[in-house]
Amino acid sequence: MTGVPVRLLPTEVGCRGEGPATASPGGRAPDRFHVLAKPTGAICNLDCAYCFFLSKEALYPGGRFRMTDELLERYLDQLFEAHARSRHVTVAWQGGEPTLMGVDFFRRVMAAVERRRRPGQVVEHTIQTNATLLTDEWAALFARHDVLVGVSIDGPPEVHDHYRRDKRGGPTFERVLRGLGHLRRHGVRTNVLCTVHAANQDRGLRVYRYFRDDLGVEFVQFIPIVERRDEPGAPPRAVTERSVDPAAWGRFLIAVFDEWVRRDVGEVFVSEFDAALASWVGAPASLCIFAETCGVAVALEHNGDVYSCDHFVDPDHLLGNITTGHLAELVGSGAQRRFGAAKRDTLPGYCLECPVRFACNGECPKNRFVLTPDGEEGLNYLCAGYRAFFTHVDGLMRRMAELVRAGRSATEVMALLARASRNGPCPCGSGRKAKACHQRIPVEPTVVD
Ligand code: SF4
Ligand code: SF4
Repeated sequence: MTGVPVRLLPTEVGCRGEGPATASPGGRAPDRFHVLAKPTGAICNLDCAYCFFLSKEALYPGGRFRMTDELLERYLDQLFEAHARSRHVTVAWQGGEPTLMGVDFFRRVMAAVERRRRPGQVVEHTIQTNATLLTDEWAALFARHDVLVGVSIDGPPEVHDHYRRDKRGGPTFERVLRGLGHLRRHGVRTNVLCTVHAANQDRGLRVYRYFRDDLGVEFVQFIPIVERRDEPGAPPRAVTERSVDPAAWGRFLIAVFDEWVRRDVGEVFVSEFDAALASWVGAPASLCIFAETCGVAVALEHNGDVYSCDHFVDPDHLLGNITTGHLAELVGSGAQRRFGAAKRDTLPGYCLECPVRFACNGECPKNRFVLTPDGEEGLNYLCAGYRAFFTHVDGLMRRMAELVRAGRSATEVMALLARASRNGPCPCGSGRKAKACHQRIPVEPTVVD
């Protein structure tokens, strides 16, 4: 691993992954963009307490929530037409739970894609699933087409089952593990998506070590749960009890980073750390949430409606429908370009003066609903966590970025930490002795349930 900071995920699976896509300067659609297609809309076989998609069912009262074959063909026609100048096309599925469509639907997807793929064109298939419905048959199909499968797991069983329950309130962990087992047996590429919330926010190390040591996970992305309370009478800017606490989110990332940077660089790929290193190297953001602007990752509903982003599936962000307009026109529309630019143009002054803005960029606009210390609107709810995290990693990110710029491997940072004199200053720049800083084996405080 030389020259490349740390291996970025081939394609992120999930609503925040639009890394390889590029924005177009003019009034047309970019040559490459990301569509998260939701063939079952918000419908899912589970009932996870924090799932924001479930409420989206209300957008389509009486709807059938199944993408028809006719719509599938139209969608793929438009997707490939829009990518005529691109060597890469991503075909991404999410839900709800997309596997509810049945394995035959995805067989037809693969066949339909092959009919459209130009010689030499690289198609990246991705799907995000809770994995509970996966069988050998699914895994064989995914393996045959090299599908990157994102599996939602929140940590070890006692943590995962806290919020991730089925419709009868039962636990789901065992079924997820069974699904993951099928994928593993067939050699399918997987990426764990782990949401961070009140039930696991203080267990970063435990969660990370469980993924690494017990599940052998190589790729993981952490997603903070931020749910606004919208019931009548709720205080303004209030969040649910399940939501992650901003400071705890920072501590979670720091705990995982300090473990990772001592021993796992180049072995385990954490999206947030890859994205941070890209920022320190001066490369484009690999996660949309940390990019300066957004707008090149739209959501496609089961009926052909296209929304600005999977996090903005609401009437105000409906761009149109692919049965009456072309996907490329919708992605290149003025409304979508304004949506993307607003991420940069609406940053409060507090962010504009922030020393880690180059890495954070105010994160996702959906979380910008609190006041800055001087009372300005539009600060990100998670700001305290991100400030703490990006400040904490600054020293070692600089070291890794220097290595990369010198054509060396970022993995050398581990040897740098290990070789430092125990009583000398830690290479991270904290000012503490190495033995009391990154040479110390981190221990997580006991969490009392
Ligand atoms: S609104 Fe922008 S930053 Fe947030 S998830 Fe969507 S594309 Fe990413
Ligand atoms: S850390 Fe806070 S102040 Fe800095 S850019 Fe991010 S949200 Fe804005």
